[in-house]
Amino acid sequence: MAKKTIGDIDVKGKKVLMRCDFNVPLDENCNITSDDRIVKALPTIKTILAGGGALILMSHLGRPSGQKDDKLSLAPAAKRLSELLGQEVIFTEDCIGPEVKAKAQALAGGECMLLENLRFHKEETIKDKAAKEDAQLRQAKDDFAQQLADMADVYVDDAFGTAHRDNASMYTVPVLMEGKPRVIGFLIEKELKFLGETLQNPERPFVAILGGAKVSDKIGVIENLIDKVDRIIIGGAMAYTFLKGRGKSIGKSLCENDFIDKGQQLLEQAAEAGCEVILPVDHDVVRKLMAGAAHRTAVGDIDPGYQAVDLGPIAIETFSKNITDAKTIFWNGPMGVFEIPPFDQGTKAIALAVAEATDKGARSIIGGGDSAAAVQKLGLEDKVSHISTGGGASLEFLEGKKFKCLEILDEK
Ligand code: AMP
Repeated sequence: MAKKTIGDIDVKGKKVLMRCDFNVPLDENCNITSDDRIVKALPTIKTILAGGGALILMSHLGRPSGQKDDKLSLAPAAKRLSELLGQEVIFTEDCIGPEVKAKAQALAGGECMLLENLRFHKEETIKDKAAKEDAQLRQAKDDFAQQLADMADVYVDDAFGTAHRDNASMYTVPVLMEGKPRVIGFLIEKELKFLGETLQNPERPFVAILGGAKVSDKIGVIENLIDKVDRIIIGGAMAYTFLKGRGKSIGKSLCENDFIDKGQQLLEQAAEAGCEVILPVDHDVVRKLMAGAAHRTAVGDIDPGYQAVDLGPIAIETFSKNITDAKTIFWNGPMGVFEIPPFDQGTKAIALAVAEATDKGARSIIGGGDSAAAVQKLGLEDKVSHISTGGGASLEFLEGKKFKCLEILDEK
């Protein structure tokens, strides 16, 4: 069943506590380098304010490990949001405590307030598993969440990037607000619609493109997708764990030796299910990975002393061909060390192929993180169907995992 959204409830005169994802990138002077995450939260924020709700926003930023860290303050996000809304955004110097409570009480309908970084309190990230085994931890997490929950009449979750976590603000707070409206925002609604519909009703061919550093991170996704997709294209460092298992020489390329057997098992499973797995047949290799390193193409085996850092030209062509005829595409993970040009050629080519397929009518989903960065860097954001705001969350969704922080929210 679909979840209730903020559009389904009346917020007039209510205090609305909204978990958003303002985990924005900052430069060394704490200037926001991309306000994308703030912009994406605007539809939900504007709806609440226009509906006469008194809006209390909460988010994390970075990994401050439970301590105040001025470099990870959300103050710049409050300033940017205020500019985007054209109205004052009250910023509180903490996310809990008597002063925050008083400000929340005084907040009127149509006014907006942003709480300081939730992760300045270690209680925010205490895992429920740890809390179950340790009464003190459980109490600390509950007390922290209760202070947040007490401020509001309505709970809204619009932070897809953390939807796979059981953080206090994501799970404990809505649990404690049982009996009050607990709904999703428009950003999460869109994510669930795209990811859900894609998995349930894919037009074929359905192609998954997986890259990045580690196979171990993506085993669950591969296992779940084998029965759903027609092809899995594997690039990036994770390809070399599969290739080594197939008896190829991979030189000094990254490889997770503990996962070679699992990789081969997945390839067998895929073959049985009729799911084609495409691995690179040639590679861009270097002796030492660094900017400006001399590089060359290795076809098939990679000589000892060399390391694969990107796809080779044949792999780029094969991958692209197998993408441009697709009707449904999911992509997560770069095809090489894309941070160091020219080892970004494979990733760029794949981004262009995904855009071309989309132009021909395919539905394409970019699963956050590095692949989203690559698409954005090439100015192709508008040429793909959907860029997910949660890399880890979209992968876990495709693994078929349930998000308990969303499960407890109200159904339509
Ligand atoms: P992940 O976080 O698992 O998506 O991995 C992303 C990282 O994988 C990026 O920092 C890339 O530089 C890295 N990566 C991709 N391909 C390779 C490769 N062939 N060798 C080393 N690192 C790679």
